[in-house]
Amino acid sequence: FHAKENQMGFACYQREMTEKLIEYRAVQEKLSLALEHDEFFLVYQPQVNIQSGEVIGVEALLRWRSDGEIVPPTRFIHLLERSREILPVSNWIIRQSCRQLAEWNAQGYLVEVSVNVSVLQFNDPHFITCIKNSVNEFGIDPRQLDFEITEGLLIENVDEAVAKLHEIKALGSSISIDDFGTGYSSLSYLRLFPVDRLKIDRAFVKDIPTADDGVIASSIIVLAKSLGLKVLAEGAETQEQLDFLARHDCDEYQGYFFSRPIAPDEVSAFFTKASPQAVNHQRND
Ligand code: C2E
Ligand code: MG
Ligand code: MG
Ligand code: MG
Repeated sequence: FHAKENQMGFACYQREMTEKLIEYRAVQEKLSLALEHDEFFLVYQPQVNIQSGEVIGVEALLRWRSDGEIVPPTRFIHLLERSREILPVSNWIIRQSCRQLAEWNAQGYLVEVSVNVSVLQFNDPHFITCIKNSVNEFGIDPRQLDFEITEGLLIENVDEAVAKLHEIKALGSSISIDDFGTGYSSLSYLRLFPVDRLKIDRAFVKDIPTADDGVIASSIIVLAKSLGLKVLAEGAETQEQLDFLARHDCDEYQGYFFSRPIAPDEVSAFFTKASPQAVNHQRND
């Protein structure tokens, strides 16, 4: 009796696995065509200066329009990594961000765009060339680009990572540590790597102002300040959280409280026009 039940259980399990595999292959196949079918697009979430309330930049976040449905990156980035298709897609993301920046610049908006960097992309020997090419193609100032790197990216080959970050800095772009606090526990790397900004992971912002999580967020702020780094809080959703962050001298925040990630023409409504002199100055650089 038990054997039979097990067998039936196994049959069910096997069918489930087969269905999963078929679904997985279907997604992989659609995904592999997504770039040439022009199904990727970027949405932008404002990054706000807490003191002035000004939108100083945006984070570019990838979306995939598949069969009329919008798929979030958490469902496909890992698949792109696995098939290495993340490389051409990342290249597209950088070009698209530069193209968008050029358009905003032409409208008189001098914002920064933060671009998320994937593991393979960071280790790709063409990464820096790809940035240079896009910057030149669209005639933008590389200081308007910020690259978001996770801690995990930096620990594999420290010397190479340090060298690569210095190359990015040499272009004039800035570097942020994304999801700070969730990765590697060693803080010594912060002295090693030429980093400009820490982005406090949403997990530590979520439960502010309950004591424990507040303590971690405020400690990260103190740490950033004492290292001379900027600090941005991710995922702020309430006035209470924002008040807490302001009280603890956090520089910037991102979150649904201000805005979800939105389309380029929607997000530009939040931008402040730069003075004509600033625009000219930037163009003549
Ligand atoms: P991330 O870089 O930490 O991006 C922040 C994520 O938090 C975004 O999700 C954003 O929509 C979400 N978020 C922002 N504010 C709030 C808030 O107040 N509440 C809540 N609940 N969520 C908030 P998204 O767009 O789904 O991206 C998820 C992750 O996918 C990103 O995390 C990043 O690791 C990755 N990703 C997104 N776009 C790209 C990309 O262009 N390239 C690469 N390599 N990875 C990307
Ligand atoms: Mg990010
Ligand atoms: Mg910068
Ligand atoms: Mg993050």
